[in-house]
Amino acid sequence: MPDVQLVLRSTRVITPEGTRPASIAVSDGTIAAVLPYDAEVPVDARLEDVGDDVVLPGIVDTHVHVNDPGRTEWEGFWTATRAAAAGGITTLVDMPLNSLPPTTTVEHLRVKQDTARTKAHIDVGFWGGALPDNVTDLRPLHDAGVFGFKCFLSPSGVDEFPELDQEQLAKSLAEIAGFGGLMIVHAEDPHHLAAAPQKSGRKYIDFLASRPRDAENAAIENLITQARRLKARVHVLHLSSSDALPLIAAAKAEGVGITVESCPHFLTLTAEEVPDGATEFKCCPPIREAANQDALWEGLADGTIDCIVSDHSPSTADLKSPDFASAWGGISSLQLGLPAIWTEARRRGRSLEDVVRWMSTAPARLAGLDRKGAIEVGRDADFAVLDPDATFTVDPAELEHRNRVTAYAGKTLHGVVTSTWLRGERIADRGTLAEPTGRLLDRNG
Ligand SMILES: [Zn+2]
Repeated sequence: MPDVQLVLRSTRVITPEGTRPASIAVSDGTIAAVLPYDAEVPVDARLEDVGDDVVLPGIVDTHVHVNDPGRTEWEGFWTATRAAAAGGITTLVDMPLNSLPPTTTVEHLRVKQDTARTKAHIDVGFWGGALPDNVTDLRPLHDAGVFGFKCFLSPSGVDEFPELDQEQLAKSLAEIAGFGGLMIVHAEDPHHLAAAPQKSGRKYIDFLASRPRDAENAAIENLITQARRLKARVHVLHLSSSDALPLIAAAKAEGVGITVESCPHFLTLTAEEVPDGATEFKCCPPIREAANQDALWEGLADGTIDCIVSDHSPSTADLKSPDFASAWGGISSLQLGLPAIWTEARRRGRSLEDVVRWMSTAPARLAGLDRKGAIEVGRDADFAVLDPDATFTVDPAELEHRNRVTAYAGKTLHGVVTSTWLRGERIADRGTLAEPTGRLLDRNG
């Protein structure tokens, strides 16, 4: 075994083989061995014994809108990565839009990387963007290390990131499939949205009616058809409509290259509980009814849904006006995803191992991050240490997000992150955060 600097010991370590007492030996930021609990600590190594707190692989959040540079009054790399570290996340992949510039050319990617470099408290990677007019930028972006490409099929909410029509989608997908890349898709069909009743005001039920399940179902059906025809690898972002699950399950069974994510808000909040005017609950697609949420949990249980990621998409408080039609659509939850999901998972009889699979292992696999997502020899020594039985009540004032507006305010959640570790260094210790030591990640390793 190489020189070991740290041994992290717990009665409950979640490994790919299950949960057990263990001592994790860390050498130069990498997991060198997962040893028996009472293994002898090498003379020069430091022992950190976290008792009965659970050690999980650091959470990997592949859906975060950091908005930096350009809309840094909404969020930024400094605040987002501090919030992430406090919440047990050790890797995030930034979405290509809402920053200015958007990540749609190599030059823009460099601007974003330069912005993130000195602010990243955790490891940060980037998705590229697929626009109607940047097909020739896709391969250079892929070569420069983006993990895949995001596109919209309906308006994105910002003018500089237009959606693709079916023909443009086919063109971009063919290009991306040509170099073995991944397309990640905001799947809502614009025609179904246009046909839905559009009523402004404070009533959540009117907003919900304006973003019907059919819009998601139809977009996903078309996407599956295109992916099958072009032998492309596609990923459905933020699935809300449980009606689409049978379609997706059938496509997977048939061998179509499709994966799916859902988000803490769809899995823990319901339309029935959204107060009128409470636009901190607004996102697209929307939070749906309790019965829909039950079906999404079944989709997780049977593997139709692969991962859970935050889709943290904050804005300033003034853009969250009480009119659902005009308010900014995006839910702020980066720091709260792990406890929110764990709270609901335990209520539904699911284990912390399940949560690790959905929030760390599967997102790491989606992005091809083979040093992340598991406590296993050779991977980065990234850990979240969790007291799973402790509870806390969400006080927005205690969040590290730049804008302390969140749909989870006042909720009592299970699971307190007691510390977070990045490559063997403690980066968060009960809310106290270290100086930034995150690295920029790219697909090339
Ligand atoms: Zn998003």
